[in-house]
Amino acid sequence: MIYFSHDDGLKHETPPGHPEQVARLEAIRSALSGFDLDRRDAPLCDDRDILRCHPQDYLDHVIASAPEKGAHALDGDTHMSPGSLTAARRAVGGMCAAVDAVLGGEDRTAFVGCRPPGHHAETRRAMGFCIFGNVAIGAKRALDHHGLNRVAIVDFDVHHGNGTQDLLWDEARALFISSHQMPLYPGSGYGDERGAHGNVVNLPLEGGTGGEEMRRIYEDRVFPAVAAFKPELILISAGFDAHRADPLAGLNWRTEDFGWVTERLCDVADEVCGGRIVSTLEGGYDLQALGASVAAHVAVLKERSA
Ligand SMILES: [Zn+2]
Repeated sequence: MIYFSHDDGLKHETPPGHPEQVARLEAIRSALSGFDLDRRDAPLCDDRDILRCHPQDYLDHVIASAPEKGAHALDGDTHMSPGSLTAARRAVGGMCAAVDAVLGGEDRTAFVGCRPPGHHAETRRAMGFCIFGNVAIGAKRALDHHGLNRVAIVDFDVHHGNGTQDLLWDEARALFISSHQMPLYPGSGYGDERGAHGNVVNLPLEGGTGGEEMRRIYEDRVFPAVAAFKPELILISAGFDAHRADPLAGLNWRTEDFGWVTERLCDVADEVCGGRIVSTLEGGYDLQALGASVAAHVAVLKERSA
């Protein structure tokens, strides 16, 4: 398994008390310190990859918003510090490099441990701690740069991946499946939001949903849909805020549930796409639960790699 990250992710600073904080990346690094991984620096992206999903005027707006000192708010809870633009370009760059490496046959699995996360960033709107749509951009790179015909994205973050849905709404070659607590931020993700080509599947979960119920829903709805789509690559929007300890939400998953869902996604990947999976970090705000859950996720990805 290839692990992409970069110290620049520590330079994306958010205001005191903000849950999407530098300490998240430190917790992940600490949790993965004992792992024998193929560790690589997440490169800066080519901005043309951002433009696969966002228009030039939005990219220009983000670049112009980057402060030389202090902070700038892109929206009520999405902030930029002097290091944020570089960190966001590495989150996109790490995703694209991971897609390139896995499709290039260097390994079967990769995990991108970068921040800021991406799944709430819409076409021309930063929101929910997210600036660029990292996972959707990775999907577009697989489709448009590598010439794949079908990519599936599974988003198990506790919040709806409204940004990924927006960026890929018209993209028939991408299947997007999101499970998320509802009602909860950002308020979208109803079952009748299906995408322009029936390519979006939303699975709202009631508050309190635990691992057992989650496993049943994934067995019934997620894995069969992914397998039927026959993707050539599976991407994971790996948010760990469905954990019972998470302060921002109210689902009841345990650390081992993240290992389980990873294991089963690897089974589907083995069945349909030679085991090829690229996972990227989204949310997860209890530092201890985040570290443990990422470790459970990465342990499976490593075990199932080349
Ligand atoms: Zn989340």
